[in-house]
Amino acid sequence: MKKTVLSGIRPTGNLHLGNYFGAVRSFVKMQHDYNCFFFIADIHSLTTHPTPENLQAGVKQVLAEYLACGIDPDVATIYIQSDVPEVTELYTYLNMNAYLGELERTTSFKDKARQQPDNVNAGLLTYPVLMAADIIIHKANFVPVGKDQEQNLEMARKFAKRFNHMYNHRVFPMPKPYTFDGKDMVKVPGLDGSGKMGKSEGNGIYLYEDPADIRKKVMRAVTDSGPTQPNQKKPEPIENLFTLMKIVSSPDVVAFFDEQYNNCAIRYGDMKKQLAEDIISFTSPIRERILEIRDNDAYLAKVASEGAERARVSARKTLDEVRKVMGIKRLF
Ligand code: AMP
Repeated sequence: MKKTVLSGIRPTGNLHLGNYFGAVRSFVKMQHDYNCFFFIADIHSLTTHPTPENLQAGVKQVLAEYLACGIDPDVATIYIQSDVPEVTELYTYLNMNAYLGELERTTSFKDKARQQPDNVNAGLLTYPVLMAADIIIHKANFVPVGKDQEQNLEMARKFAKRFNHMYNHRVFPMPKPYTFDGKDMVKVPGLDGSGKMGKSEGNGIYLYEDPADIRKKVMRAVTDSGPTQPNQKKPEPIENLFTLMKIVSSPDVVAFFDEQYNNCAIRYGDMKKQLAEDIISFTSPIRERILEIRDNDAYLAKVASEGAERARVSARKTLDEVRKVMGIKRLF
């Protein structure tokens, strides 16, 4: 039997290179060999209070972008999280065994509480519980995620294990991270000298982005005055530039600039120009497909409703089992 895979993305903005190389390219690769569920995490995105119009527009855009990246809705199940209410029911049950101390200690909660100090809501605190419900409602075996989600996935394993133990039934398998090449989880850096490319960080390069804007962003990437000694260690902003180049450029291009760096002959302007062109070559075909499908409402609605139907069948099956082992409604 095929193993099950689940992954999701919040509809809080367009997909950026971090989303693609951290998660989406794995989905595209896995869809033919695994039983795949890919969802748009609209409930998760409510923690930042989007307007209804922005939420709707975001869901539609991410759906079109998923499809443009090559996810085939005839092969994989693509759905919108709020179309599957079984997820929020399981979230409620899991919350009964999730403890304040462990939730407060998660890095993502601490980061978000810092980023939005006026809106430290309970949804932020229990974010890992909802994420666990998303994953285990389909009994997922693998979750393709970037490095930023490593801890949340550990929490999902913890909650699944705790539930199995508490009710003495092995209802849930332990979900494992999946990486594209079987190596470490990917962390795509930002070009502003910061560690991570992200929507909240405001430093994303988007799949949908106009080539002229990509060029501008890359040319503005933070650098320094250049190495002064051969084979000197690269400071973080320079290392980030190379990390991104390793992701989108060919190995000989990376080797060329690496050598230039090591010989103290590097011209960051040339490197950035090359990087921008390589990013554009990668994003352009995806951008064209996004433009083709994003206004095709009938097609997008069909994909979402068929996906919801399939996801609900899977979720219902798990929830029936969960309710049974918990003793809910067994008296009637
Ligand atoms: P989000 O944008 O937070 O909804 O994340 C959706 C998916 O993209 C998750 O699997 C993340 O791990 C992944 N992701 C987001 N940003 C990055 C990044 N900078 N590097 C690697 N993966 C990322």
